[in-house]
Amino acid sequence: MTGLILENVEKYYGAACAVKDVNLHLPEGKLVCFLGPSGCGKTTLLRMIAGLETLSGGEIRLDGADIGNTPAHLRNFGMVFQSLALFPHMTVGENIAYPLKLRGVSKADQQARVKELLQLIQLQEMVDRPVSKLSGGQRQRVAIARAIASHPKLLLLDEPLSALDAKLRESMQVEIRQLQQRLNITTILVTHDQREAMTMADIVVVLGEHRIQQVGTPIEIYRHPANAFVADFIGSGNIFPAIALGDGKVGLPGGDALHVPICSSIVVGEKVKMLVRPEDLQLSHPQASAGNRLLGKVTFVRDIGATIETTVECSGVSLTALSTPCQGIGLSIGNPVSVTIPSEACRVLSA
Ligand code: ATP
Repeated sequence: MTGLILENVEKYYGAACAVKDVNLHLPEGKLVCFLGPSGCGKTTLLRMIAGLETLSGGEIRLDGADIGNTPAHLRNFGMVFQSLALFPHMTVGENIAYPLKLRGVSKADQQARVKELLQLIQLQEMVDRPVSKLSGGQRQRVAIARAIASHPKLLLLDEPLSALDAKLRESMQVEIRQLQQRLNITTILVTHDQREAMTMADIVVVLGEHRIQQVGTPIEIYRHPANAFVADFIGSGNIFPAIALGDGKVGLPGGDALHVPICSSIVVGEKVKMLVRPEDLQLSHPQASAGNRLLGKVTFVRDIGATIETTVECSGVSLTALSTPCQGIGLSIGNPVSVTIPSEACRVLSA
């Protein structure tokens, strides 16, 4: 099978587990994000793929060949780290040519490839400039050009954007994604930023507690989180306790019932967790509770221009709704309000 396959991959440092039970198929040409909180094992997993860390167990195969014992420098993978690791005393051109020089590529071929890459990253004019005299975004582009200089089979990016300010980071996310699609290069990006993963990835691998929690497209993971960990980690969400009542209903702590999609794995009487995204809640002027409409009281309002965030206490739970200014109904703290929770927007998760 083509692409990268990880089978039962694990890593222990002494008795401490860093990564376990990792089974994954990364198809060719896709951008895959390893996403998870600090310490969950993202970098360790990436370093094992790169050959910079040995495996405690399991197998890594690339296009069918076991690469577990192939030294890092023979894997022909491009890497960009958070620190970028550019050589500050060298020019842009020298930095990009460096991996080619190491491989014994002729001077003429080095120059031709550098020219091609500078065109790709749109820094043609800067070939002779020392990298110490570039902006953060330009340095980023040079690091990527150097990583792809020798046509690697895999591009590995470990939090490459985390040192950039928010605006530049967002434009670099789009730039890297477009470059990756143009080159059709299989890429793994490590990040703890779920927005970055949602923006850039074809496939998101959510890691938590040293193992894979879910693998899916960004939308699958956002809309159909496999468990409460993923629901909580991806996006902002209202997660609250409930009890399964059967017939597609759950009971809330305050006694109201909600209609929810039928979930065959949940049994009547089971304690569950509910997920509802803030943008799916609809606020309206107060009316008696009926169906999935609950009566509540506003406890917090934050108007940040493009969106209004309103927190409402209803039926023993605290729910936050996001609305646009034109959907707003002019609420203040203490106002009564009705909240409609569309049943199709409710996700029932095992507690
Ligand atoms: P971050 O987002 O903070 O970089 P991460 O998800 O990339 O975190 P890793 O760096 O892979 O996490 O670390 C996973 C676990 O392995 C952590 O508990 C870490 O302390 C441990 N660990 C990593 N490298 C070593 C090492 N060389 N020796 C001992 N423990 C290590």
